[in-house]
Amino acid sequence: MDETRDDPYAATDTRYAYTSPLVDRLREHGFRLTAGRVTVVLPAKFGFCWGVDRALAMVNDAIARNQGRRIWLVDQEIHNPRVNGDLLLRGIRFLKGPLADAAGFDGVRREDLVLIPAFSAEVEDRRRISEAGSEIVDTTCPWVMKPHKRTEKYAREGFTTVIHGMARHEETRATCSLIAHAGGHYVVVQALEDTEVLAAVLGEPGDPGPFRAAFRERLSPGFDPARHLERVGMVNQTTMLASESREVAARVRAAMARRYGEAALAERFRDFDTICRATQENQDALAEAVAAADPDLLLVVGGYDSSNTKNLARIGDARGIPTYHLESPASIEAHRIRHRDRRSGLEVETGDWLPAGEITVAFAAGASTPDTLLAEAIERIFEAAGVHAQTPLAAP
Ligand code: SF4
Repeated sequence: MDETRDDPYAATDTRYAYTSPLVDRLREHGFRLTAGRVTVVLPAKFGFCWGVDRALAMVNDAIARNQGRRIWLVDQEIHNPRVNGDLLLRGIRFLKGPLADAAGFDGVRREDLVLIPAFSAEVEDRRRISEAGSEIVDTTCPWVMKPHKRTEKYAREGFTTVIHGMARHEETRATCSLIAHAGGHYVVVQALEDTEVLAAVLGEPGDPGPFRAAFRERLSPGFDPARHLERVGMVNQTTMLASESREVAARVRAAMARRYGEAALAERFRDFDTICRATQENQDALAEAVAAADPDLLLVVGGYDSSNTKNLARIGDARGIPTYHLESPASIEAHRIRHRDRRSGLEVETGDWLPAGEITVAFAAGASTPDTLLAEAIERIFEAAGVHAQTPLAAP
């Protein structure tokens, strides 16, 4: 996809509001700086993606052009609490999510403007806004539209969509709603363990009980495994771990081949990779950076709801690097760190986490993480390691 051609917002750089001299300096010094006993390493790609830049440019433009008018956002614009908090301070009201206004959709009037977030919105939400008669500005990332369009095609051709995504993520909820609206069916696979359960029922007819129990709330209404798994098409939420999406597709394909034979796959199986370029590049750049630097720690900065940020943390786990995903730089202290636990999804605290002596700390930042937040996290690690602010930063 050409990300800039014919796009009036592509040239508008909203990073200015969230730029950081420290992060810019790291970019200029080959993504590596040392102060005192701490060397900080960044991947060659990190932070705001093209889709986030574009969406925030559209929001800025809407605010500038509609002074005095009430503006709503259907949900979080992107998965970063600071950015959404800034929008709230600028007068934007939220219909859903953690910052939702109590009035919700009932509060929307004809003369209001409603913004669709970068992850898109469910069909029902769009219907309610249209019913209110409000003007809509749709900031949906064009990369998010790829799985949407693909699933509508699958539905038209009688294929059930297998979505590798997180069922509660706004993008996947929107995808599911579009499929249901188009009269199609879907199954949401969240992890490789799910794929095994799906593959068992795909590969040979049998008791669908375990499948139903595992996928309870991740199936389209009226889903019948005996009828709705005869022809399947794959898509993935744009921000999943690319290697896992490929593995999910491979296992589903193998199960279909077992059931119907290789020759029948052309008629019964479709695969379409919908991982976005920014997600893929950030994952690849982080994998390269940690392979080259062999860091003592990896700190991943970004919203706890951010799918692409969570998947960056998994890259650290896979390589056995002590990895902490933190939403706020204030989580970093000398003797403890607060971070998201990958299993429970809850914030937990780990003590005695910062190694003594000279250390290399790799940082990663999700596609919705502003440079300012990353810079604060880097400053906090220097502080926690006892490196004084006046110590000159030097490229090694
Ligand atoms: S991470 Fe990808 S899909 Fe999401 S907003 Fe950025 S470019 Fe678009």
